Amino acid sequence: MLELKGICKRYVTQSFTQVALDNVSLSFRDNEFVAILGPSGSGKTTMLNVIGGLDHFDSGDLLIDGISTKDFHDRDWDAYRNNRIGFVFQSYNLIPHQTILENVELALTLTGVGHAERRQRAREALEKVGLGEHVNKRPSQLSGGQMQRVAIARALINDPEIVLADEPTGALDSTTSVQVMDLLKDVARDRLVIMVTHNPELAYQYATRIVNLADGKITDDSDPFDAAKAARREAKPTRKTSMSFVTALGLSARNLMTKKGRTAMTAFAGSIGIIGIAAILALSNGVNGYIKKVEEDTLSSYPLTISKQDYDLSSMMGGQGAADDDSPENVDSSDDSAGGKAKGTDRIPVVTAVKDMFASVKSNDMTSFKAWLDAGGDGIDKEVNAIQYGYGVSPVVYRAGKGDEKPVRLVPNAMTEAMSGGASSAATVNMESMGTSVFNEMIDDQSLLDSQYDVVAGHWPTSANEAVMVLSSRGTVGDYTLYSIGALDIDELNDLVNSAMTADGKIETPETGTDFTYDDALSTTFKVLSPADAYRKNEETGMWTDMSGDTDFMAAKVADGIDVHIVGVVRPNETANASALSPALPTRMR
Ligand code: ADP
Ligand code: MG
Repeated sequence: MLELKGICKRYVTQSFTQVALDNVSLSFRDNEFVAILGPSGSGKTTMLNVIGGLDHFDSGDLLIDGISTKDFHDRDWDAYRNNRIGFVFQSYNLIPHQTILENVELALTLTGVGHAERRQRAREALEKVGLGEHVNKRPSQLSGGQMQRVAIARALINDPEIVLADEPTGALDSTTSVQVMDLLKDVARDRLVIMVTHNPELAYQYATRIVNLADGKITDDSDPFDAAKAARREAKPTRKTSMSFVTALGLSARNLMTKKGRTAMTAFAGSIGIIGIAAILALSNGVNGYIKKVEEDTLSSYPLTISKQDYDLSSMMGGQGAADDDSPENVDSSDDSAGGKAKGTDRIPVVTAVKDMFASVKSNDMTSFKAWLDAGGDGIDKEVNAIQYGYGVSPVVYRAGKGDEKPVRLVPNAMTEAMSGGASSAATVNMESMGTSVFNEMIDDQSLLDSQYDVVAGHWPTSANEAVMVLSSRGTVGDYTLYSIGALDIDELNDLVNSAMTADGKIETPETGTDFTYDDALSTTFKVLSPADAYRKNEETGMWTDMSGDTDFMAAKVADGIDVHIVGVVRPNETANASALSPALPTRMR
């Protein structure tokens, strides 16, 4: 049940203020087909965007199953959009260079559903809209009506409770319009469909309820619904799940290690679910201000990285995809090849894939590149928010022991070592950027940080030996972070990871319901060493020896290490979608 209460929305431009929605109150049943009619500029699209959580409103309230969205954080909006809403746009917003099967699959890629299931569900969705025979065509090979049916299949793939359609037949002739309307009517049999149209004929023929809008106000409603009088359905729990790190580790330690790529991808998609829609809009519709904001926020967590050595990951993944394909055709082809009749689409041997990977490793001339950047980079400053250099050196971090306590090594720990173990150096760098270490360098752009974060305790770092703790948008900090900064016993984590690596996932996880206060954070200090500090030079031979196993040697080095203090606690503010800092502990190091 969806309810708009006195929603107002204005667009303020330099010259004047446009009232797009003027005190709109409207309730929807869980299952009806509502057509919104009104002249161009009357606020129809704005209302749909507000309902779908794509646009914020100035005042009033949007209630979902009787729950106000006033206290919604970005994460809640993402969960709402991802799990409960399907969007259909007038201009289809299909990605031109992908097949329609891939277009529909994309909506699921971002939710972390496995490859085989994704393909299966996308195929079924396309069959439902009558396009089962066209799955391998590209959008340009289809008619307008067929493209809109693809868009509807894409909207339905997550089985949303609410489908929002903005002039879905606006670009179609009358015959194909009827086909699309038939389909939407079918879709509306077991969910709420809200459709904007300026074709009253179709609206009256198909919809169960007509709402008229003029100048941002509702002028007529053919079948009003009073949410207060209707029996209230129990609020559904959102499908969003949140797990502590140790729980996740205990549940599927092996999975976590072997599917780290996918884990990171899922976390990424979950935290910025909107990117699914944003990417679709950006790719086929050009970029507007809204998307630009999303991009800026997204790119600040997933920046463009230029490394000394690099390989073309996308072509590698392409090969991988073919080798991974578990569709029936592929299984057949390998059977055939056993009989001596290999097909063209045969599997790519691992050896070839590995050879390709190394053959495609390129070296970049970073020295000249940095010189070019330092010299102004032909005005690149205007195009970027911040430039950050990495030198491939991860500091070693200890927690300073109090009194006679021994210093405790926090980084590297079993987790960071497990994640980078055995990987090539290029992959190790990628691993680090995926955040296995909670210690990160802060980006050097205070205005971007100010726009995305509120300081909830202390202050922003002002010198090289100061750090901030970054909370999640809900103001929490994960247990992995607490382990990593030594607030929980790091040895416990090391044991957990080690047993998880060997015991096939069946491990005991400790209870970690710790109270950790801002004061605790602000009184935390670390000792930071360079990895080179673990080596001692033999003056006679000139050889360097790794002394990291020698407790006394290391204790002396730690005592001389750089003192780093947590001087502030920050939390993402409500407007930022993603963040320039990964939640944990970026230090300012220059
Ligand atoms: P409809 O979909 O009914 O044609 P819209 O909801 O798109 O109408 O727009 C309602 C009013 O708000 C129009 O006057 C439009 O010009 C204005 N408007 C919509 N989006 C923006 C925007 N991003 N900036 C400024 N004005 C806008
Ligand atoms: Mg419109």
